[in-house]
Amino acid sequence: MEPSDIEPGAPSGGAPTAVDVLVVGAGITGIYQLYRALGAGFSAALVEAGDGVGGTWYWNRYPGARFDSESYTYGYLFSEELFDEWEWQEHFAQQPETERYLNHVVDRFDLRRHMRFGATVAAATFDESTACWTVTLGDGREVRARFLVAATGVLSVPFFPAVTGRDDFRGEQHHTGRWPATPVDVAGKRVAVIGTGSSGVQIIPALAETAASLTVYQRTANWCTPLNNRPITAAEQAQLRAECASIREVLNTSVAGFRHEPHDRATFEDSDAERLAFFETMWRSPGFAKLSSNYTDLLFDPAANAEWCAFIAAKVRSIVTDPDTAEQLLPRDHRFGEKRPPFVTGYYETFNDPTVDLVDLGRTPILRITEAGIETADGVRELDVIVWATGFDFGTGALARMGIRGRDGVALVDHWADGPKTFLGVQTSGFPNLFFPGGPHAAAGNNPRYNGDQVDFVTDALVFARDHGFDTIEVEPEAEERWTAMVDRGAAAAPFGERSYFFGSNIPGKPRKYLLNSGGRPKLFREIARVIDTDYEAFRLSRSSAGAGSTA
Ligand SMILES: Cc1cc2nc3c(=O)[nH]c(=O)nc-3n(C[C@H](O)[C@H](O)[C@H](O)COP(=O)(O)OP(=O)(O)OC[C@H]3O[C@@H](n4cnc5c(N)ncnc54)[C@H](O)[C@@H]3O)c2cc1C
Repeated sequence: MEPSDIEPGAPSGGAPTAVDVLVVGAGITGIYQLYRALGAGFSAALVEAGDGVGGTWYWNRYPGARFDSESYTYGYLFSEELFDEWEWQEHFAQQPETERYLNHVVDRFDLRRHMRFGATVAAATFDESTACWTVTLGDGREVRARFLVAATGVLSVPFFPAVTGRDDFRGEQHHTGRWPATPVDVAGKRVAVIGTGSSGVQIIPALAETAASLTVYQRTANWCTPLNNRPITAAEQAQLRAECASIREVLNTSVAGFRHEPHDRATFEDSDAERLAFFETMWRSPGFAKLSSNYTDLLFDPAANAEWCAFIAAKVRSIVTDPDTAEQLLPRDHRFGEKRPPFVTGYYETFNDPTVDLVDLGRTPILRITEAGIETADGVRELDVIVWATGFDFGTGALARMGIRGRDGVALVDHWADGPKTFLGVQTSGFPNLFFPGGPHAAAGNNPRYNGDQVDFVTDALVFARDHGFDTIEVEPEAEERWTAMVDRGAAAAPFGERSYFFGSNIPGKPRKYLLNSGGRPKLFREIARVIDTDYEAFRLSRSSAGAGSTA
């Protein structure tokens, strides 16, 4: 059966289908995977739980949602024409622009007819006799696929803390990661935001503009620094076009997938005055430059890190007029970079607005949500709107909810009971022909760059299997152990603790395992090169009893 049997853009309906490659997820990773699979000559289709294209940029449509990566470093690099024709408006685009961009890509490369929306994968079972995956959608319909590529994202399952009475609230409530398409009008309303992570610090200034009152419930403060966003000028647009090839070269090879120049000095090589001047430059630098271009020992020497934190703390104290509020906004439990650092626009200034209040949940935890609002030891605060900016079940959340069963009916959640085990962050043993680019153990940094590396690798692996007449490709357990041990070793050697959601520590009961790739992108590159040089030695390739090439 051909992928065109899938109704273009239709909700899950139509006949059961069979394809070579079924991609799950219409985010930036899944779109690219679909493009690459079709380009390699596979029949391919994509299913997506949401009703549209975009993944993160479809679901997170809350006011203030925008990139922390430079727009043109985040977009695709595979087509120079695409790079040329899309003019990002701002250095750090807002959510609507990114959603428009991804829709543009889908239509420009004629991918929409291969996509089915409103289609949640509820179960996926590997059939050993045919070496195919049977994928069951939420409405019970099935799709059979030789290869299943779960591009289901690491930040796609919103998390709500276990607070009593959430359903009792009579007002409006939304999670930032499931923000409705119809605008939420907070004008003149009493609003609460719970959470001050990357999403919370974006939405707080945006809501404060019109809300009658805004109460911010903070569990832990974060080291926020300015995003320093601005429009891209016409001259910059022209320069970006002119430099497309060199930009691509840098982004395709840099450690974290950014264009920021690494610094060449350590913190204490500079005098106090030089360091202060350098920190001022960092404070004014764009987004992640504060991590990528900062002193070389920032993440490795606690004393160096403390210098930068002291600089940020002085800035916060100089911006926030109420000293008690300023102190509450300063982290006490982690260093800069230990958690994903949020980047902000007008965040600290918001707390000078007399209609904005900060509630420190360390001092007064939430006791329950009531019909009227939020109750802490200080009493009930009556509200019209509650915003849950409480993050995601990072890394494994979506894969754990897909009902995946591999060889001998083993469930992925059982195979990963003690944390994810992967090779290259793309495959796990006992689950042949299942790949998950953009999943746990990928790399860290500018997401589309290393997810794209993984998609390219997956596509090459599928082509290798097909061209050599194999039906299954499955990582050897030793390779998986080696990679997973490398990730765990690197995480243990890091000078930081396990306080970040990168260790799953925001989810009660989740194993504390590092969910990124502590070896980073360079390690990913080296290992991919080794796999290719050794003709996929790390993988077991075989033919099914049903015969090569059959997906039916
Ligand atoms: C608010 C926010 C801002 C961010 N900003 C940046 C940034 O500036 N730079 C950066 O590098 N990264 C950023 N990220 C990380 C971001 O998630 C990645 O950049 C990128 O969007 C991941 O793309 P993806 O395609 O891998 O996953 P996603 O975009 O998460 O897409 C996965 C898709 O899979 C679908 N899906 C999941 N499970 C199923 C299922 N069972 N059945 C069907 N469909 C399913 C989901 O509905 C979703 O649409 C941000 C994340 C958030 C939440």
